[in-house]
Amino acid sequence: MSLDAGNNAGRVVILLGPPGAGKGTQAVRLAADRGIPHISTGDLFRSNIKQDTDLGKRAKGFLESGQLVPDELVLEMLFDRVGASDCGGGYLLDGFPRTLPQAQALTAALGAQSWASLLLEVPDDAIVGRACGRLLCRDCSNIQHSEFAPPAKEGVCDSCGGELYRRSDDEPDVVKKRLDVYHDETQPMVDYYRDLGSLVTIDGNQKPDAVFEDLRRQLDGGLSPQSRGGQA
Ligand code: ADP
Ligand code: ADP
Ligand code: ZN
Repeated sequence: MSLDAGNNAGRVVILLGPPGAGKGTQAVRLAADRGIPHISTGDLFRSNIKQDTDLGKRAKGFLESGQLVPDELVLEMLFDRVGASDCGGGYLLDGFPRTLPQAQALTAALGAQSWASLLLEVPDDAIVGRACGRLLCRDCSNIQHSEFAPPAKEGVCDSCGGELYRRSDDEPDVVKKRLDVYHDETQPMVDYYRDLGSLVTIDGNQKPDAVFEDLRRQLDGGLSPQSRGGQA
């Protein structure tokens, strides 16, 4: 596979950012735009919890308390998912990696495959309001917000008419815990990508459309040579 496929074919896009930064919102659009699968480790855990799988049982307490799920569980689940045939032409990662060992494991697994890492930067005070007002659809991937993307009809998804719900870990005290965990455990991973010379930062504190255009522009040509190749 080419290291620098100009049309992004085969490229793995890694979307980084604090909880509530807008990763999911952007990932849904970007994945559709690029025609690649959107892989959210948070969504994978929530689906396992809903289905009461063994993995779900082991992960539940960590999600509820705002802590990170141990690396071994995350890595097993993630590599199982990206090994599926629909990921052969590249994929978009949302919420992974979140620790330095996860990032190192991903780098090793990607080898010479092309990848790009983009960080959505949003200040802490904006994060809390975003996460605490988040509304998710039970039936589709649409993400809304009580204030910033309010549904036309209360409790009803604008995209599909499904029921909107709030995540139990979007309560203010759990969001603050998740933000602490981000600064303590995830920041070193962000520094790892920065040190590789392959981190592109995006101002996530703009309207969703403006963030999306910045992401697209970067992926279409503004990335540094290191980010394009994956081997810094
Ligand atoms: P957000 O980006 O809003 O914080 P996610 O849906 O990505 O939320 O993650 C929700 C929870 O799932 C996290 O608080 C954590 O418990 C768990 N989780 C998701 N991805 C990872 C990961 N890569 N490593 C460890 N835990 C994870
Ligand atoms: P993450 O996946 O990083 O945790 P989400 O994409 O779920 O974040 O966004 C968190 C909340 O913030 C959602 O309710 C979403 O509608 C809202 N949101 C996302 N992007 C923006 C933005 N640029 N401005 C205002 N609110 C936003
Ligand atoms: Zn919906």
